[in-house]
Amino acid sequence: MKIRKGDTVQILIGKDRSRRGKVVRVLPKTMRVVVEGLNMRKKHTRPRRQGEKGKIIDFPAPLPMARVGLICPHCQKRIRVGYRLLADGRKERRCRKCDGSIN
Ligand SMILES: [Zn+2]
Repeated sequence: MKIRKGDTVQILIGKDRSRRGKVVRVLPKTMRVVVEGLNMRKKHTRPRRQGEKGKIIDFPAPLPMARVGLICPHCQKRIRVGYRLLADGRKERRCRKCDGSIN
């Protein structure tokens, strides 16, 4: 998974195009991500109990990972992710533009 929770991404297409936000959830099964404050949808709820009113709730909807680009925390550019093998055998994500490591 190239995008992880906590990453900053930029929306590439759709109504929020070019806006940036933080990834709050990654849904690997559907290859989607939820970005804080972006791709907002309204959800209408019915009154559950007597005397309660139905509400309209704004929430960020999952969007396909292919529609977002990762922003490098070092160079602030929209980048492609590369990997580097560490001495202990673990893989580390890195920026292909500035070569900085991403968590
Ligand atoms: Zn970079």
